Amino acid sequence: MQLISADNPFSPSLAVCRDVALCLLVLLGWGQPLPIQASESALDTAYGQLQRGEYAESRERFQQLLADAEFTGELRVRAAIGLSRVEAETGRWEEAIEVIESALESERNSSRLWSRLAELHFETGESTRAAREVQRALDLDSQNLHARLIRAHLDVERGAIDEALDGYRFFVRHYNRAQPDDWETLMIIGEGAAQYARWESVSPIFRFLVNTLCPDALKDNPHCWQAAVLSGTLLLEKYNQGQALPEFEQALKINPHCVPALVAMGEAALQDQKLTVAESFADKALETNPRFVPALLLKADVQLMAGNDGQALKQMQAALEVNGRDQRILARLAVIELFSAGLPEPESLRQWIDDPENAPAVGGLAATSFGELRQRNPRPGPFYAILGEFLDARRKYDHAEVCYRAAIDVMPQLSAPKTSLGMLCMRTGRIEEAETILDDAFQADPFHVRVSNMRKVIGVLKSYETIETEHFVLRVDGSEMVLGRQMADYLESIYPELTARYGYEPPTRTQFEIYSDAKGQSGHAWFSARMVGLPWIQTIGASTGVIVALASPTKTDRPYNWARVLRHEFVHVLTLQKTRFNIPHWFTEAISVTEEGQLMPESWQEMLLERVPAGKVFSLTSLNDGFQKPASPSDWSMAYCQSKLYADLMLNRFGEDALVRLLDAYVETPDDEAAFQRAFSVPLEEFEAEYTRFLHQQIEEIARGRRPLPVLLDAAKERVEAEPENPAALADLGFALLRSGQRREAAERIDRALELKPTQSLACALRARRLALDEDLEGAFQLLQRGFEDETPHPLLLELLARDAVRREEFALAETVLDQALERFPLETEFVRLKIAVAEGLNHPDEQIVPYLKRLARREYDDAPSRKRLARVAAAGGDDAEAVIWAREALSIDPLDAGMLRILAEAERRSRNLPAAVGAFELIVQLEDATDDDRYALAGLYKRSGRTAEARRQLNAILEHNPNHRPARTMLRLLDQGL
Ligand SMILES: [Zn+2]
Repeated sequence: MQLISADNPFSPSLAVCRDVALCLLVLLGWGQPLPIQASESALDTAYGQLQRGEYAESRERFQQLLADAEFTGELRVRAAIGLSRVEAETGRWEEAIEVIESALESERNSSRLWSRLAELHFETGESTRAAREVQRALDLDSQNLHARLIRAHLDVERGAIDEALDGYRFFVRHYNRAQPDDWETLMIIGEGAAQYARWESVSPIFRFLVNTLCPDALKDNPHCWQAAVLSGTLLLEKYNQGQALPEFEQALKINPHCVPALVAMGEAALQDQKLTVAESFADKALETNPRFVPALLLKADVQLMAGNDGQALKQMQAALEVNGRDQRILARLAVIELFSAGLPEPESLRQWIDDPENAPAVGGLAATSFGELRQRNPRPGPFYAILGEFLDARRKYDHAEVCYRAAIDVMPQLSAPKTSLGMLCMRTGRIEEAETILDDAFQADPFHVRVSNMRKVIGVLKSYETIETEHFVLRVDGSEMVLGRQMADYLESIYPELTARYGYEPPTRTQFEIYSDAKGQSGHAWFSARMVGLPWIQTIGASTGVIVALASPTKTDRPYNWARVLRHEFVHVLTLQKTRFNIPHWFTEAISVTEEGQLMPESWQEMLLERVPAGKVFSLTSLNDGFQKPASPSDWSMAYCQSKLYADLMLNRFGEDALVRLLDAYVETPDDEAAFQRAFSVPLEEFEAEYTRFLHQQIEEIARGRRPLPVLLDAAKERVEAEPENPAALADLGFALLRSGQRREAAERIDRALELKPTQSLACALRARRLALDEDLEGAFQLLQRGFEDETPHPLLLELLARDAVRREEFALAETVLDQALERFPLETEFVRLKIAVAEGLNHPDEQIVPYLKRLARREYDDAPSRKRLARVAAAGGDDAEAVIWAREALSIDPLDAGMLRILAEAERRSRNLPAAVGAFELIVQLEDATDDDRYALAGLYKRSGRTAEARRQLNAILEHNPNHRPARTMLRLLDQGL
């Protein structure tokens, strides 16, 4: 089953539906046959340049033609429309209008000029004038298709949806009757028909437009980028990027300055949360047309998604200057005003939408142009739908639902708010409601990729088993019950502590969904589809603040510590819900990462060592960008790491309840500055300054514990120039040259260093590595030993020598090397690993190995072997409490390890924790490697707990295939005797 990309939804094999029409807005002239004149070819040339985006050349040619007073009639009309397109497509709206107005002076009776003027006024928010002009155009020529299209658009804007629908349907009928084949007519029909198909959910029309009409337009004029943009847009609306993007690329091949295509590609990036990419497309579009409303809105959306409302407002003001009545702009404005004035209760929002005259004023909205919008348009569906989308994106689910429902109410024709409402129900765990809504949406639009994927997710989810506990509901595949049970127990075990710490309990049980492989798709793909309805997200677990989903740890490429992920995500649920989603992204992550209770992983240390000195550091104000629009994977990790360090500093500085205090402050205010004042009585600025010092302290500490970063090539060269006979400098240069692939040059420096000082440790290490590659293992080992005599041997030498000594089982030597290495570089886990191997080789007693195992486990949260070893050591030493801890830790990475479950069960039994022991044995007997001894032990525990029927069942199961199992027979007899 195809989950990800609904490949080829517009299958060409489907019967072509001829019941169609459409029209891309735009700015086209359209054609009746022209008288053949000499200037016609000049006009064609100008149009060719216009279509290719050669705006300057095209403008000049049109102007020349229009300057010729002899140039009249249809040709003049066509030239004026062409020139007005040049102006409009480069953002010169006033000039575009002027061109048409001046052409109208001599061509008063051109229906086409009037409808073009109407279009320009419509695009710039002058609907009243546009309506008059359209009427004029239609009075002159009732069959002017372009005028009809603009009239339908104007009907939408005054809330006359039924008239608009009739208007759009006309294009379908007209096409069927007239079967036009010139590109300009086809594009007008295409736009009208597309709108009809959207509203009436006529999939065959979509197919027809994409498969027939657009290709026909391109056949008529290979420079008709409008056709590629139209089919790309239709595909993108269904989240079918796989097919949409090539269409936009084709448009850009025709016209490299094709602004609508650039914006559409930016919108596609935005669908994938690639904010930086989206923004760069918007910028590129604005270079050609700085006053293109969709481009300005795309740029605003990027800012809105990143929570930078002030920046967004700037873009929107520019858009408002072009068109003060555009619902798309007004809706975004309303988002900003709602948040800046403090979001009202969802109920007040609903009342206000229902009856803006009589409902109590809602924050800043009273001041927006919303009232005016409602006056001229009682059915502003797109306004409500877009408002809903942004509230949804900011996790104001209840508010978003109010808006979606309002949109559906006034314009049931719109499919987007229905789809969005279905997705919202999924996010808030209302699966049944989601299913009904999405089934309807699917009926209406079977090619919508997100809808189709989400319905498949629901299908998978419905096939899952449910594990219910007091505070949680887990949904897992039937084959993963052993894992699901452990997860449920773990979640209940952390619930009291976490809810007490954060002073919050969710009102309903929290649902956790664990996705396994199914129907040819990986667990991760299902998880990802569940969270975003689309392909691929980077994490393995995620929370909407209401539900949590994760890819099953038994199904991911590498096992991961699921307990850590569950804890992290459940803490999100608590902090998001407690603040009613008013917590900044960085802070909810800061708390969740802190709760994981791990030491900083090596990769983060290295990232800090590289980024802090280079100044590539976020501040509290830019930190959210690291999550929402990371420019690189490193940005993304850095945002987590810095959030954690902010939390560390708060805990150091303000005490162990610091995070809770700040959390409580965010319950009261969404503003960072105000929240800091409230929680800590410290100005944010002061705290930031302290944080900068703290960061530098951190990297100093890390630098002391880690091996130094290798010297960079330029620095190494400089030093050798200054001290050409310094062996250490020569070795550093050799190393740098090697890393940049210059082997021969490197070898020269290394040889020279060794001539000057035979024990130069880095040079010895590098030369030894080369010998080892040439299979001179003996020579390499001797060289490494020689380098160890250097006064402070280089860490590379220590590592190579330790490894080699372990390989040769010369453990005593290895231990000497590693003791020195760990003394100097205590944070290098590789040395810890080697040290453990050496201690094992030397048969050191367990208590000498344990501290190193713990060091490794604390640093590497996904490392199962160290934890298993610790559990075994504890069990063997009779330390049951310790054995329970480490067995559970091991199982949280490898939940199906029967050996670990046994250690856990036995330790719990010895600690007289009967229910826990029973629980563990119950898991073991579900595994394939369960033995009769396991069953017998479980039966004994059942017997002790008075669960005789269950005890009998286990004993009978043993005797069924092993009738000679004497202890089982004896126990069964005792049970029979009631003993
Ligand atoms: Zn998180």
